[in-house]
Amino acid sequence: MIMHKLDKTDLRILSALIENSRTTYAALARETNLTIPSIKTRIEKYIKSGLIEKFTIILDENMIMQGTSMTFLLKVKPAELDRIAKELFESPYIANMSVTSGHYNLIIVTHNMRDMDKLEFIKKINTLPGDSILELVSSINLETFMCKPISLPSAPINLFIRCDYCHREFSGELFSKAILGRKRYFCSPVCQDKYEDRAKKYIKGELFNKPEEEKQMDEDKKK
Ligand SMILES: [Zn+2]
Repeated sequence: MIMHKLDKTDLRILSALIENSRTTYAALARETNLTIPSIKTRIEKYIKSGLIEKFTIILDENMIMQGTSMTFLLKVKPAELDRIAKELFESPYIANMSVTSGHYNLIIVTHNMRDMDKLEFIKKINTLPGDSILELVSSINLETFMCKPISLPSAPINLFIRCDYCHREFSGELFSKAILGRKRYFCSPVCQDKYEDRAKKYIKGELFNKPEEEKQMDEDKKK
């Protein structure tokens, strides 16, 4: 059960779920003229393929957190960027973070913060080890517009799937096999062979890390 494409019916179901993830199978079935079991099957397919990451809720932040949100523009030493971004992202104040091109290379938008939280957060940034923050600009957000959910096209679309071996995104022919307890997707038989090879070595104990962890380590080394 591999997903390659989203047809018009998929897009209608997904749009309805984006609007309200608690909508019922019956309501979706009525809207799409499908049966309830086939709605269920489709939704399971979205989850299994990783297209739906999770079902969540949106809270009114203002009812829980006092104060105002802030935007920070940071210029971080390039060699330290990855480490700093990961460290700062641990902070519960962060709503959104992007590594960017240009003069500033890290942009942070926070949740609502009280004045004392702001001081604490700025102090945390300024006391990061290694003089890694070269510049810091901050401003208080006056009005925040909520993050808009993705809007789906009405015409069928191809899905991008990531190869478990080379991590390349692709939408062409797909090769899949259950390896190491999970279904894996590959862009080519070559990638599948290489992955299986590594998996065999991992099972025999010749390789310490699972194939996907190895690939990740190679990429980390390159950085
Ligand atoms: Zn590949």
